[in-house]
Amino acid sequence: MTQVASELMGVDATTMVAATERVLAQLVEYFDVDFSYVRHTDRERRATVLVAEWPRRQSVPDPDPLGVIYFESADPVFRALENATEPMVVRPTPQFADYQETVRRASGIAGVTSAAVPLLSRGEPTGALGFVKAGDREWSNRELNVLKAIAALFAQLQARVVAEERLRYIALHDDLTGLANRRALLEHMEERLRAGSPGLVAAFFLDLDRLKALNDFLGHTAGDNFIRTLSTRLQENLDPADMIARLGGDEFVIVPAKPMDAAAAECEANRIQQLIARRVTVGGESVSRGASVGVALGLPGETTVADLLRRADHALLSAKSGGGNGVAVFTDAMRAQFELQDDVELNLRGAVSDGSLLLHYQPEVDLRTGRIVALEALVRWLHPTRGLLPPGAFVTVAEATNLAGELGRWVIRSACAQLAEWRRRGIAGNIVMRINVSPVQLVSLDFVERIEDVLRLFGIDGSSVCLEITEHVVVQDLARTQVTLRGLKRMGVQIAIDDFGTGYSSLSHLKALPVDAVKIDRGFVQRLGASTDDLAIVKSIIGLAGSFGLGVVGEGVETAVAARTLVGLGCYRAQGFLIARPMPAEQVESHLAVGRIPLDLDLPRAGRELPAH
Ligand code: C2E
Ligand code: CA
Ligand code: CA
Repeated sequence: MTQVASELMGVDATTMVAATERVLAQLVEYFDVDFSYVRHTDRERRATVLVAEWPRRQSVPDPDPLGVIYFESADPVFRALENATEPMVVRPTPQFADYQETVRRASGIAGVTSAAVPLLSRGEPTGALGFVKAGDREWSNRELNVLKAIAALFAQLQARVVAEERLRYIALHDDLTGLANRRALLEHMEERLRAGSPGLVAAFFLDLDRLKALNDFLGHTAGDNFIRTLSTRLQENLDPADMIARLGGDEFVIVPAKPMDAAAAECEANRIQQLIARRVTVGGESVSRGASVGVALGLPGETTVADLLRRADHALLSAKSGGGNGVAVFTDAMRAQFELQDDVELNLRGAVSDGSLLLHYQPEVDLRTGRIVALEALVRWLHPTRGLLPPGAFVTVAEATNLAGELGRWVIRSACAQLAEWRRRGIAGNIVMRINVSPVQLVSLDFVERIEDVLRLFGIDGSSVCLEITEHVVVQDLARTQVTLRGLKRMGVQIAIDDFGTGYSSLSHLKALPVDAVKIDRGFVQRLGASTDDLAIVKSIIGLAGSFGLGVVGEGVETAVAARTLVGLGCYRAQGFLIARPMPAEQVESHLAVGRIPLDLDLPRAGRELPAH
């Protein structure tokens, strides 16, 4: 007994059969029988399944009549295993002719004595430990009691292995669809991308377009059924060796078993895309969702799993931004953009502290006189290998990676420090410093206090600073924005709405906010003189701003026509390449020293100058 117990301890699914065989071999010898077995009861299939036997049969028929035996069609002895809780002994009598025949066919032994002891788990039969001996043999109660104790050990082992298998299954499969989950996918890809594996490994990232709408209209159960149906469809139409994983939601990844080049991968991706986009009937409705597929290829030993998945994901994004319902293959252009983004993510935090960020300043003038009324601080990044990067290359990355706050604080501090220095030197006396503020900054709780601290530190009064915010923030969280802007106003800080005309805020929103000015988006200004639509828009913005008592600044003045048009409409303050490009501090200093930038606009007659905002 103790020998058996120690043999079965520490056994798991992979070593179970071998350990069981070793125990059976000992028992065969000890009880002097010809054949022994352990069987497991599969409740779901209503069958008894052979786990291990000893001795191993010389030749096993295919299919093995002892392998899987369904209770319904079994002989009386095997059928009894389904519910028996006490040992059964069958001796070579005509009563058990059927059973004798099954054994003879499977093992060649005729006229046998068979003893089967049920494995019990919480009183329920879960299998059997059995012995067969040619001829007649008596089993004493003492012997049967020993077998019961051994059967209990096997029952424990079996319960443990089943639970482990179940856990392993759960750990590697998606609940809803039974497809592989993220973990199983990663394991599989790791294997496929191992150095020495054959060929290119394709990965398809799939995503259903607007699945949320389906959930909203038909309910979550319908959404689940939809996903399940699609999963089955994928399984039925793909090579069984392909890896199909669901990462949750409506995201799937497929890694075809067959190595393939880009052309073959694109072709297969198109086939899958069409498969997914076909209609599905759920909850009595026939529905379909477009699907987008991103394709990427990995080279074993070169590409990492994370890289391959990110490339496929990147390609997916591009497929979706192309309107959805299509396939996109990861390209070199995507790689370049992707590398830039990676690089930015990696190095931006350092850049904020190591002095590689800098500000350029773009003058804003009164068009009638050329007098400089304000400077807009525009951030730049002197990247160690990529040269001077414009904000478009890194501001959105900063916003997506929680760096916007840090970047923004650096900009505000630096712009204020510069203004303070110029003032000390007696230039830029009544110039307003315009600073762009990203939405993330504006909603941070201590924004107002931080601005106050910086102003105090550099001895600058609030009215010398104008913060530029975009319309989007204003619309998104009107209540919060209102609180913050009022706090800023109390310090005299000015507020301008940037890129005005491109967002969705109606002027009624603006009425509720303490705003000083709007900057007409450069898109409209650039085409003044060429587009009558834009002229109408600019005209109405200037008119509305006037009726709300707001200042207006024209941005993106590139031509004399645009400048003259603005002046004609009563918008005198402007900024643009025609007047001056953004420039480094030293360069802007020489303009500040003069105080104006000469413009040759050939205006009809000079009007009255407005006070600087
Ligand atoms: P913005 O606030 O609308 O800034 C004006 C942008 O228009 C600047 O681009 C400027 O170089 C460009 N520009 C000025 N005049 C003309 C013109 O006549 N024609 C054309 N085509 N463009 C002109 P830049 O410096 O690349 O900045 C782009 C955007 O990046 C800015 O747009 C602003 O939204 C953002 N940004 C710049 N600096 C910062 C910053 O410190 N913080 C934050 N959050 N965003 C910033
Ligand atoms: Ca701006
Ligand atoms: Ca703007």
